[in-house]
This record gives sequence, structure tokens and C-alpha cells, in this order.
Amino acid sequence: MWGTRLLVAVLVCGAHGLAPPQQPLVFPKYHNEKVVRITEDPKNVLSVLASANNITYQKWGSSASERFVDIHVDEDNHAVLQSFSWSCQVIIENLADAIAETMPQHQDPVVETTQAHPLSEIFFREYRPLETIDAWLGILQQTFPDIVSVEEIGQTYEHRPLKIVHISRPSDIDHGKRKTVVVTGGTHAREWVSVSSVCYAIYSLLQLYLEEPNKISDQLDFLFIPVMNPDGYAYTWTEDRLWKKNRQETHLPKCFGIDIDHSFEFHWTRSSDWACGEEYSGESPFEALEARMWHQYLNSTNDDHNIYGYIDLHSYSQEVLYPYAFSCSEQPRDEENLIELAYGISKTIRRQSGKNYNVLPACIDKDSDLLPDLGSGSALDFMYHNRAYWAYQLKLRDSGSHGFLLPSKYIEPVGREVAAAIYYFCTFILSDE
Ligand SMILES: [Zn+2]
Repeated sequence: MWGTRLLVAVLVCGAHGLAPPQQPLVFPKYHNEKVVRITEDPKNVLSVLASANNITYQKWGSSASERFVDIHVDEDNHAVLQSFSWSCQVIIENLADAIAETMPQHQDPVVETTQAHPLSEIFFREYRPLETIDAWLGILQQTFPDIVSVEEIGQTYEHRPLKIVHISRPSDIDHGKRKTVVVTGGTHAREWVSVSSVCYAIYSLLQLYLEEPNKISDQLDFLFIPVMNPDGYAYTWTEDRLWKKNRQETHLPKCFGIDIDHSFEFHWTRSSDWACGEEYSGESPFEALEARMWHQYLNSTNDDHNIYGYIDLHSYSQEVLYPYAFSCSEQPRDEENLIELAYGISKTIRRQSGKNYNVLPACIDKDSDLLPDLGSGSALDFMYHNRAYWAYQLKLRDSGSHGFLLPSKYIEPVGREVAAAIYYFCTFILSDE
């Protein structure tokens, strides 16, 4: 029996798809490396892999409800994986080719076109490097000075500014009294669609603000951080497309980067991952400079912003996650309504695009019940506990065919989903008195 299962697993694990098209860009680092979906209970798989000393891999995504884990392996470790009696499917055959598909294919005149037509969609034809995003935001600020202001709230380890985009229309309602909605993206450097989607939300909101005054533009303020991790994001464009953390020094020489989403001081626990690992939390809370700057900014502008809603964009797996991330045994306040709003967001997305986003507590997604440190120190929990009455993390498309490497043709469809979700979220917040 065992032998039969193994044979099936080997056949499926070793299956090859069609040869991908030739790409002009070369990414030797990931040539022939693969992403494999293991269709088993993630808890089992991860504990077996953690105790196996003959395989090296990076975890990409997992779902307890749909029973799978996606892992990234090179060719040698793919061969080792076939010795486990699991049902496996190669979802990305050659990572280098999948990476090339996310890189710009055209030389778009983004700055010139945006200067002439500030709300042109050209910006969303491709993923954009940091300089282009900064230039685009600068043009929006120049074009709509009464509505858009871009603030620099500090500098990263590599001396890049961390930028916040404040959108607010002058109105009779006192600034500090209006509810503020915060939307962040790009915390994890490789999740490019979270960056493009924050930009798309800004773009959609500006269209709404330029229309006749309406409830959302009159009664709400917005803070957007499109790139929460500027150093990491820049690094994914020049050095390593799959980099996740920021780029600051750690206590170990040659090990760079802290996971910003493990750095916030709320039930912070030091990660079991070492300083070179992708989940590394640093040695103390707020060691990640970006998390600290955001915290200090919130403290120093306490009276300016009446933060009420928070949405943190990530990828991938199409999920609406609600607090808490650090533990499944801590009950969030107003849980019934929190879950109802999450289902409302999911339904809005399904109506908009037909895509299904699962609703679940963040602790399940983070495997906090498996290892408590995995879900600790998240921005979601921190914002929910200290700042925002309603808070969610949205993990955007897709559900696994491309994972973190979602091709650029999906930028606008995902952007529209996010804009619809935020619109629904705002409408709920305005009706919640
Ligand atoms: Zn993420």
C-alpha cells in the first residue's frame, strides 16, 4: 500500500509541464528551481520537513482549510521531496521564467504621461520600481495639492525615505474628528501586487474625491503607505526578486533583514528563526526601523488622526484575515461584527471579480497554533489592539498558480478588487456609529 502511494507521489511530483517561453531576462539564481504544492495537512508536512535533515526548502504559502503547503526547492531538493509519501504537484516549473514574467516588458513613458494625464492608467500596465512610484506620487501631490500630501516619516537603514500618502479633502468637519482609514502594502518585499494595489486604491479614491462631494470624501481621511519596506522592495528589483524582509543589519554578520511584520510590540515573541531566516523577528520589538518609524509617527500625530480602520495588503492566497494573529485562544472584541465585516469584504470582491477570498482568523493562516512565535508581532494585531477599531489583513491573488510572482496583467483586476473592498469597508465604517 505504502509502495503504491509512493509511486503515485513520485509520478505527480516529477510531472513536467510545457516548456515555458524564452525570456529575454536571465535570472541565474533561480534557474530550474521549482515551487511544489504538497496536498496534505500543512501541520503534518511542516513538522515532518522541520525534523528532516536532508531537505532544504523555503515555505511559500499554505492553507489548513484546503490542506496544502507550497514550498520552493531547487532541483536536488525536489528529488529529495519525491522520497516523501506525499501527493505533490509542481506549480512553478522554472522560477527564473516566472520571475521574468513579472518584470516590465515595455518602456512606458509613465512620468510624461502622468504629468499630462494625472489619472492615466498607464502606471498600472506593469509593476513599477521605487523611483517610478515616488515620481508618480510626486505628480499626484503637485496636481491635487488640496487633497494629496506625501509625507516622509523617517529614513530606512539604506537611507530611503518611508513615505505616507495623506488624502483628505478640505471640509467643514474638523480634521481630527473625521475617521481615518489606513491602508498599507509592501511590508514583504516580494509581494509586489500589494504595492501596486495600494497605488490603485489611491488612484480610485482620487477619482471619487474629484467627483461631487460624497460621504466618503467628506467624512473620511486616508493614510496610505504603498511601500512599507522601501529597502526590501528596491532589493527585489536589483538583487533578489524573492526577498521578503527589510535590509538592516542584524547581530550576525552577513545576515541582513528583519521581518517587519514580526516586529510590532504586541505579544511580541522572538522568532525561532535565525537572523538569516525569512521569519526573523529581530532581538527585540520595534527593532525593524520601518515598524518603529510607523509607531513613532502614530504617537506623534495622535491628535491628528482618528484612526478607525486598517487594511494591510499582502499576497498570496486570496484570504481576508481578521485578528488575532498571535493566538487562536484570544478572542477579539466585537468578534461577531468583525467576522461579518470580513465576509462582507469577501462578498464584495466576489461580486466585483468572481474571485473567492476565504475568511479566517489570522492565527490559522500564520500557524500560530503550531508554533506560537509564527504569528507574533504583526502589524495587524498591533493596529487592532492600539489604533483601529476594525482591522484586517488581505492576502491578494492568486491561489497558487503564480504565488508571489503574479504576472503584471493582473495588476488592474486585483487593484479593482482592492478598491471595491476598501469602498465597502469605508461604507461600513461610516454607518457604524
Ligand atoms: Zn506578506
